[in-house]
Amino acid sequence: MTTTAEKKTCSYVFEGWGSQKLPCQHPVYQNEERCVFHHENVAEKEKDFHRELQKYIQRCEEDNSIEFYNFGGFIFPEISFSRKEFLKNADFSESQFSGEVSFSESQFSGFADFSQSQFSRNVYFNRSQFSGFVYFNRSQFSGFADFDSTKFFKHIEVINAQFKKQISLRSLTCHESISLIDCFFEGLAYQLHQGEKISFNQCRFGEKTTFANTDCSRLMFINCNLSNARFLGADIKETRFQSCHWNKPKRQKYSQVADHAAIVQLFKKKQLRDEEKDKTTLLRAIYRQLKQNLEDNHSFVQSGDFHYQEMRIREKQAYWNSHMEFFILLIYRLVADYGESYWKLLFWIMSSFLGTASIIATIEAKIPFLKALKITLFGLIPSAFQRDELKDALLSDWSKGVIVMEGILIIILTTLFVMAIRRKFRR
Ligand SMILES: [Zn+2]
Repeated sequence: MTTTAEKKTCSYVFEGWGSQKLPCQHPVYQNEERCVFHHENVAEKEKDFHRELQKYIQRCEEDNSIEFYNFGGFIFPEISFSRKEFLKNADFSESQFSGEVSFSESQFSGFADFSQSQFSRNVYFNRSQFSGFVYFNRSQFSGFADFDSTKFFKHIEVINAQFKKQISLRSLTCHESISLIDCFFEGLAYQLHQGEKISFNQCRFGEKTTFANTDCSRLMFINCNLSNARFLGADIKETRFQSCHWNKPKRQKYSQVADHAAIVQLFKKKQLRDEEKDKTTLLRAIYRQLKQNLEDNHSFVQSGDFHYQEMRIREKQAYWNSHMEFFILLIYRLVADYGESYWKLLFWIMSSFLGTASIIATIEAKIPFLKALKITLFGLIPSAFQRDELKDALLSDWSKGVIVMEGILIIILTTLFVMAIRRKFRR
């Protein structure tokens, strides 16, 4: 009975590359179905696991016929691989890390495959080096993931990984580009990295995401939802934003960045402290950079949104600094959303015609409203109609004055209207 049990091997079948089935070769643990590595009761097996793992790693490194460390589907207790040199390819795919795991300062000479692995607690890859390809496709990180100062030597593509708590990407070194595709980040902290670009493609970011106070020029965001991402104090002049979605609260016409609401709240105070004033200046700077950046990349509609927001902050700042500037910006917003809304301008052009006509119809008792409207419409433009309309009108000087004022107003509004149309529809 004992002899058959000893020979029995683990029931775990690893589905390798190209759905190749690789049954686990390790003997079963405690007469159960699975080996010590795939056994699910972590508390029970912990001591034996560490001992057997040491032996297995040693065997992998001494036996030249073993091509790679096969940790596929292993259920790890809390473990440390700190400063470990993985001399061959390392396959951790489908593995589960039930406790904290550290790969701090470790080195991977071959590839490192963490596809579909699950990290239940914190994981530390800080200062580790990956010389070969790295795979984190469909991995799940439930705890904090530390990648600070990690070095990557090859192009890396991470597809559909979920970082459910926080990932730290500070001071990475990327010898080739890194693409993060369709990933979710509940929280992310980034600081300028060395080397090639990092691109986020179709990624979603939770509220604890920050790219603030650092140089983001080596980042690319493509089709990302950035409504929660914070950029305050960042340098994003060179950052690529392509077809990204920004925060657009209900009943708001123009997109805004995540920091907007909290900072705009500050303006409700009577007096701002210096650091609060700085925040408003930083917010304005972010909008200015976004406006310019998107304009340079021909995203004119979004660029217009951020131009509006920049001017909105400027108007609020001017409320304290310069009454004249505040007044002009206020009028500019009410009339034209700072030149962004041609509909608003059209409305004011129409209104000024109707308004002038009403005034004239009121001043001149003999002229009915429709006649007054004709006078205001044709009175402006030198034409045959103008002569006909004005000839018999016998307007008082007051009415002539009103028409002159209207003429000046219409010139200004029409100029703004043409500019707004151009801004919206240029290619
Ligand atoms: Zn097994």
